[in-house]
Amino acid sequence: MNNDSIAANIAKVLQQVSNAVEKYHRRPESVRVMAVSKTQQAEAVRAAANAGLVDFGENYLQEALDKIHSCADLGLTWHFIGPIQSNKTRPIAASFQWVHSVDREKILRRLSEHRDPEQAPLNICIQVNVSKEASKSGVAPENLAPLLALATELPNLKLRGLMAIPAASDDFDTQKQACDRMAELFRDAQSRYPSMDTLSMGMSADLEAAVAAGSNMLRIGTAIFGARHR
Ligand SMILES: *Cc1c(COP(=O)(O)O)cnc(C)c1O
Repeated sequence: MNNDSIAANIAKVLQQVSNAVEKYHRRPESVRVMAVSKTQQAEAVRAAANAGLVDFGENYLQEALDKIHSCADLGLTWHFIGPIQSNKTRPIAASFQWVHSVDREKILRRLSEHRDPEQAPLNICIQVNVSKEASKSGVAPENLAPLLALATELPNLKLRGLMAIPAASDDFDTQKQACDRMAELFRDAQSRYPSMDTLSMGMSADLEAAVAAGSNMLRIGTAIFGARHR
């Protein structure tokens, strides 16, 4: 994928988002687009940044650290969105501004412990397994409450929101149902913890349903960068 097609893809995605924002009466500017750059080269990140994107999501630690390093001049915001092994919390806490894929207490504690108090607090979203798929990461909705409580208590962390990957479906109504369920969990959590302002939901294939349900952070990979490199 060359730089011109990345810029053209971003324009297309932003148009899709703005159509959905209008259709579902969302506030303009209320929906952020994160570019999911996993498996893409640093040059692709640079092209997306040149096209105006600021938020980048990564799933694999080592390649992410390489890109964060080589794109340090761009002033980007990096989000860790992949499964977290507990022996990787130190570099994650040091190099990312956000972590969206926290689904257990041990990881929360370690991220808090490893975040330098001199840095701004690490922004945390708790991942919820909203479709209750056996194969998926994320805490079950009924076990969410203690994780939220712990995230607000621990130092060096800031609880920002919830993240979900609803079960894949080609059907808008099915997508919308899962997104609505997630939005309900989010509103409930937010009423207890008003610092929560982020519902991280919606990928290339379900962004319209996510915007309709109230997502305010979309995580878009394929629609921006094309097929992944592995
Ligand atoms: C890969 C990935 C995305 C992006 O998915 P696309 O379908 O390529 O837009 C979003 N969120 C997470 C957690 C991912 O792993």
